[in-house]
Formats: sequence, C-alpha cells, structure tokens
Amino acid sequence: MEADAPGPSRVPGRRAVLLGGAALGLAGCRAGPAPAPSARQADPARVDALLAARSAAVLAGDKAGFLATVDPAEPGFLARQEELFGSLAALPLAGWAETVAELDGGLVTVRVAHRYRGFDTADEVRTGHLRVGPAGFTGDGGDGRADDAQIWSRGPVEAVTGAASLVVGSGPLRQIAALLDAAAPRVTAAVGPDWARKAVALVPVDGEHARALAGDRDLGEVVALATARPNADGSPGRPRILVSPETWPRLSALGRRVVLTHELTHIALDAGSDTTTPMWLVEGFADYVGYLGTSVPTRKAAAELAAEVKAGKLPDRLPDAAAFGTSAPRLSQSYQEAWLACRMIAETHGRAKLLALYRAARTLPEPEALKRVLGVEDLTPAWRAYLRAHLA
Ligand SMILES: [Zn+2]
Repeated sequence: MEADAPGPSRVPGRRAVLLGGAALGLAGCRAGPAPAPSARQADPARVDALLAARSAAVLAGDKAGFLATVDPAEPGFLARQEELFGSLAALPLAGWAETVAELDGGLVTVRVAHRYRGFDTADEVRTGHLRVGPAGFTGDGGDGRADDAQIWSRGPVEAVTGAASLVVGSGPLRQIAALLDAAAPRVTAAVGPDWARKAVALVPVDGEHARALAGDRDLGEVVALATARPNADGSPGRPRILVSPETWPRLSALGRRVVLTHELTHIALDAGSDTTTPMWLVEGFADYVGYLGTSVPTRKAAAELAAEVKAGKLPDRLPDAAAFGTSAPRLSQSYQEAWLACRMIAETHGRAKLLALYRAARTLPEPEALKRVLGVEDLTPAWRAYLRAHLA
C-alpha cells in the first residue's frame, strides 16, 4: 500500500551512507548516468545485490553485514531482523540463499532456500516477502501477504545436534535429540542400513505454528509427524519430524520413545513421499518398529481395540486410508489394528518378509504384494484370529 511505500522521511543522505560502505547494488552498474529508480519501482539489480549481501552475511555469521541491508530508519523492523539473524546464526546452515522470485514496486517476493550441514542433500525452499526502499529493506510483506511458515518465524530458535539428529526450535530439544539418537540404530536394525540414519526434527512454539509448518494441517492429538512438505518451486521438500509442543509434554517416557522411533521409521522408509503403500502397512510398520524392544503389554498398548474385541466386536477388515485421518472416530484403533497386523506378519513370516512386503507394496497392488511375498492374498482371517488371541 502507498502508506508503506518509501516516503519523504527517507532522506537521500541516509541512502548514501548505507550504500557507501557496503557497495550494495552498485556492482554491475554501467558507467554513465543511470536512470534514477522511481520511488515506487525498486531497481532489480540493486535488490538482487541486497539479497546476495544478506545471504552471504548469514553464511559468514556477519551480523553487521546482515543488518546493513536494513533501513536504519525502521527500528521495529531492524529489531526483528536482529532477532532473525540471531536465530539463523544458531543453526548449522550449509546453505542459505534469498533471491528475488518477483519484484512488484517496493515489494519483493523472496525465494528462501536453506539446507542444514550434514543433514540435507538438497535445499528446502520457501517463500517470504520483504519491502525495499532507497535505504534498504524496510519491512516484511504485510497486506495479507503471508510468508510460508519457517521454524524461526515465531521467535528465537536454537539447535541441538546429536549423533543422528538435528533438533531445531524451542523447548525440549536435547531430550528429543537424545531419543532420536537412541532410535536410529533400532530403525536401522529393522529396515537395514540403506537410509541416511539421521534426521532433522522441528519443535514449533505452539499448535498454530505446528499447523502452519505441517502445511496447514491440523495436528489435533497427533504428537509428532514425519513430513516432506513440497518446496515452493514444486520440487520435493526435505524430510522433517515435526513435534507437537502441545501434546508432547503429556506423553510418558515410553510414549516418547515409541513415537519418535515410529516417526524415524517413516523417515527411513521415505513415507513422506509415498502415496502408494497401503496406510495400514505404513503406520503398522512404524508402530511395529516403535514398540520393538519395549515390554508394554499388548492389551495396554492396544487398549481401545482390546475393549472392542473383548466386547465381541472384531474388525472385519484392515483399516483404509480414511481410518487414519486425524479426525477419524476410531483413529487409535486403526493404529492398533495396523500395528498388530504387522507384528503378526513378523512373527509368522519373519521380520525380513515384513520389510519385503512393505517394499513390494510400494509398487504392486496390495493383493499381489501379499501373494508374492507372503504367499497369501488375504490377511484378514489370520489377522482376526490373532487379534482375538491377543486381545480378547
Ligand atoms: Zn505414522
């Protein structure tokens, strides 16, 4: 809006001071009189140079260089940018690049790409907005132009790096890192060594932040989620474990171990980009690995399902994808049904066959995968008998 555009209060002198030392936007200018940029349309080359200077400053840990791209006449924005720099400086960034996606007057739509050292093999790309004036950046988007959520967009963040984990956000980062470090070898024992054997987890500040980071997906009672939100340019996003800060504190120590092992199993099997494997196999396998090595009694771990089975109500088929929706009425039972189906397969055919079934079902229709790997086309009768035997 016009009211936010650079106004007469930005005196030319300030601009000269800012540009003088940093050579921002001047590199590449041809000799001779350049047309003066209009007050409304920012000079694209200058915006490119400002963003390049910001990006280099982030990677160099150069706070002064970063803040030199901000108009000093905007103390509120300057303070927010100082806080942002503090957050970014706390992260093990191997890459950080802000570039122009679109320039509309003084509004810059920014492509923000980052990757974590030792964890990411490609960039995570999101969209942000900045306003630019003659003396540097003057503010963020405003006018309802919402930036994509980032873990640092709701206040200061820290990072904890473990043997197999990088945990970013605010809250019990160390605890989560330790649990992921302990879970990684268990996941490798279950799925084999052919995965990264480490993962990035994000701990947002509240449920709203978690929802935004999950791609506007309500986490409801979900404690953690393995995501791979597509990048702003449509390329595949980076796998992340998102921990719900509101439900996490309510979990027991055992629950936390099971949940993080479950999510790490999803990461190891690339579940975030998998749209073909049946959900009962995806969720059941992750819970199977999650519960491995724990001594929690089956009737306790599957309490809701056990109550139904005891009352004579046996499910007549494996849960479908809809049964795993966050607001599905029998969500707990669906997970328990899937877990016990996978446990039954592992006990009957061996763990290697369970993994082979998982991998086969990614490309084959379920009955064909079952027949090829286990020699049966329908698991239902054996599964129902197993539920009765363990829960009734
Ligand atoms: Zn899951």
